[in-house]
Amino acid sequence: MDFEAVIGLEVHAQLSTESKIFCACSAKFGATPNANACPVCTGMPGVLPVLNRRVVEFAIRAAVATGCTVQRKSVFARKNYFYPDLPKAYQISQYELPIALGGHLDIEAGGAAKRVGITRIHMEEDAGKLIHDGAFAGSQGSLADLNRCSVPLIEIVSEPDMRSAEEASDYLRRLRDILVYLEVCDGNMEEGSFRCDANVSVRPRGQEKLGTRAELKNMNSFRNVEKAIEYEIRRQVELIGDGGAVVQETRLWDADRGETRSMRGKEEAHDYRYFPDPDLLPLVVADAWVDELRQTIPELPVPKAARFSEQYGLTAYDSALLASVRALAGFFEGCVAAYAKNPKTTANECIQWKDAILAGAVSAETIAQIVEDRETGLISATAGKTLIEQSIATGRPVRILREELGLTQMSDAGALEAAAAGVIEANPKEVGIYKGGKEGLLSFFVGQVMKETRGKANPKLVAEVLKKLLG
Ligand code: ADP
Ligand code: MG
Ligand code: ZN
Repeated sequence: MDFEAVIGLEVHAQLSTESKIFCACSAKFGATPNANACPVCTGMPGVLPVLNRRVVEFAIRAAVATGCTVQRKSVFARKNYFYPDLPKAYQISQYELPIALGGHLDIEAGGAAKRVGITRIHMEEDAGKLIHDGAFAGSQGSLADLNRCSVPLIEIVSEPDMRSAEEASDYLRRLRDILVYLEVCDGNMEEGSFRCDANVSVRPRGQEKLGTRAELKNMNSFRNVEKAIEYEIRRQVELIGDGGAVVQETRLWDADRGETRSMRGKEEAHDYRYFPDPDLLPLVVADAWVDELRQTIPELPVPKAARFSEQYGLTAYDSALLASVRALAGFFEGCVAAYAKNPKTTANECIQWKDAILAGAVSAETIAQIVEDRETGLISATAGKTLIEQSIATGRPVRILREELGLTQMSDAGALEAAAAGVIEANPKEVGIYKGGKEGLLSFFVGQVMKETRGKANPKLVAEVLKKLLG
């Protein structure tokens, strides 16, 4: 039987606010365990949570950028469960009335555009973290680090619209790019600022009814998400092929073993007994505020890439690559503003030096000067690379290095003609053959002149001069 996979994703994105969602504690990653915890985020009796306005602002920006409708009224609810990393024994989340509904994200599937629905976006607080045996010198058992308690998250739930691991991974990358663009999330998967649960089911191709899904957790890289989904699709198809049935359950991805393992079944699923949090008023968002925030949404990666292709004549691939990171896209346009004559070479240089550029090790002026000097024939492509490397290593301007390292090509027509004439005189036999019609020999003469000038001649000019002299 021919099966089709169906995938829906739940993404948790940590919002990059200074403080937590309901108290003034720092939300920063990596602090000393329990240094960022107070009576509010650890749920002491008698405390009152106060909603962080910034969190709502970031959630609204994410909602607007993904085409969602921001809800005028939303409600925080308590999701009740016990776990040692959650001292309150409930998580404050949004349930029946989330902040945003009904958006979409455009992805690419097999070379064609495809729209994936976004069901909802809601705000919630994170839980703490348990540190198990031996992670601290001399420690035994498990320790609780509550720094992450009440760190703000948004959960973005997709429709079950994806049909392969590649589509899921493309959706995740694009969603991450957008959130990072908006500067509402740092997108760091290893630190858990951007994490995803993947719901996977299969059904016979042509069947409309969805199959029973398994929910995959514990994947902390795009590669792992892809591998886990691929594994899970195969597992379910084989299971059904063998006459079995998929059970609804949560499965953990084991990256070392490359397989998903059952964590808990539906029977053990929690009844969270959601109810509106009596400590927090319903959130009412004014239309004017949403409109104001809408104005702050920057040009996003997909439209920006389209503009790059159109405006600068770049390939779709290069445009998408440059546009995927806001800082890189801005850098590229900074280079073009400084030197506009060859945006294609400028794009190639920006892509080649991407890491150094994002680390702040290369300036737009440097790239612009290298592109200009290549364009005017002052340096070769190889010299350009050497100069940028040297500039990164020494922090010195490329044009000064160019002179110091003697990398300026000979473009002076008189000197080139003299060198070319010398080569012609020294090789009468080859000249004869060339004049007899074997024009392929031109490269031999070019090579000789390059040798004469110790590689400093501009090969394009040398060829021109030789042609003239031999003609
Ligand atoms: P829960 O919170 O219990 O996981 P939701 O209704 O919020 O349930 O759904 C979670 C995700 O599962 C959504 O992204 C949705 O698109 C996806 N989903 C629902 N049914 C299926 C299915 N049969 N196969 C694949 N994904 C599914
Ligand atoms: Mg779920
Ligand atoms: Zn706190």
